[in-house]
Amino acid sequence: MALPLGPSGGIFSVLLRCWLRTEETLLRALGLQPLHPALAIQTPVTNPIETHEEERSDNVPSFLDSILWMAAPKTRRTIEVNRCRRRNPNKLIKEKYNIDQCPECGHLKLKHVLCGFCYEKVRHETHLIRQEIKAKESGPFNSPTVETVVLYDGEKPHLKDEGKRIIEQKRKRPSWFTKELYL
Ligand SMILES: [Zn+2]
Repeated sequence: MALPLGPSGGIFSVLLRCWLRTEETLLRALGLQPLHPALAIQTPVTNPIETHEEERSDNVPSFLDSILWMAAPKTRRTIEVNRCRRRNPNKLIKEKYNIDQCPECGHLKLKHVLCGFCYEKVRHETHLIRQEIKAKESGPFNSPTVETVVLYDGEKPHLKDEGKRIIEQKRKRPSWFTKELYL
């Protein structure tokens, strides 16, 4: 036992020794063997119940054991092997040769597929026109029996547009929006 050194350490050790002596005399008076410091070694605890359980588990491996051991590979795969597996040509993304340039905007797109950029600008323009229709007619979008003509800034209806639904937009007509395109 390590005792603290110093002015108070001496008194403490004397008190401890006195206490041990009185404890020893008391134990002898009661007919018991005094306790001496002995070497303590940690040994595996043998419990008969546990050993029985272990034997059972050895005989019949449970379902959980197989799951727990599944994720433990026996050998470590080297980085070269892993790279070969990951960069296998069969796993890489296939090259595409059906890429074309959009004749309208110039963005790249798949052949025989609508251009995403052009689709988005048409969708945005249609949304603005529908907002104008809603502001003008203030109701649900009932399909009218007549054609709809969209007039942009500085445009006037023709004689042939008489009797048609006219939607005016206070903006410049987009270059891709031809006048012959009716909604
Ligand atoms: Zn386009």
